[in-house]
Amino acid sequence: MPGTLIVFSAASGAGKTTLMNRVMPSFPNVVYSVSATTRKPRSGEIDGTHYFFKTEEEFEKMIEKNELVEWNKVHSNYYGTPKSFVEQKLAEGKDVIFDLDVFGKINFDKVYPQAIGILILPPNLEELEKRLCLRKTETEETLRLRMENAKKEIDFALNKGKYQHVIYNEDLEAAVIELEGIMVKYSSLKSSIQSGS
Ligand code: 5GP
Repeated sequence: MPGTLIVFSAASGAGKTTLMNRVMPSFPNVVYSVSATTRKPRSGEIDGTHYFFKTEEEFEKMIEKNELVEWNKVHSNYYGTPKSFVEQKLAEGKDVIFDLDVFGKINFDKVYPQAIGILILPPNLEELEKRLCLRKTETEETLRLRMENAKKEIDFALNKGKYQHVIYNEDLEAAVIELEGIMVKYSSLKSSIQSGS
């Protein structure tokens, strides 16, 4: 049976990365699709593990050569899903998880309409603003911009995104249980959690 494809999307500050990192170890058959990006590596990020870090020129070559399942410009950097990685993992019988922005997910669906979409949202916009402030990475201007973008993304995702599941991440432990519950619903993932760690 071909592997399951699961797409995660979230507004920034929704806690997607924390949630994925908590749940992934329970699903040994699931691999994370490593995207290509022109964003500079953050401290601790490893080329080939977190992203394939590319120059703009390299990335544009990948687009030209049709090497990406989908791509998008997010916060002025390119991000895209390399075809070869997905095809190789599916051929190995793996389930694959993707982290895509809400607009990239629409293009992804054109290639893999069978993919399961999971949208992670903060409980409300006030909470999102509070979390972004706590990170202390934003100026007043970038905070305003991020909040405006988040509103647009959430609106788009809820109305046009075709996500089968929406998780409102208010309490991390509750969200972890909810996400695990969703993932075991899909049969190949279920066998992986049962035989897993
Ligand atoms: P970050 O730079 O914080 O790792 O990611 C920024 C945004 O890019 C997030 O919304 C993430 O979901 C999105 N992203 C990461 N990889 C891809 C990809 O391959 N394609 C698309 N469309 N978005 C991606």
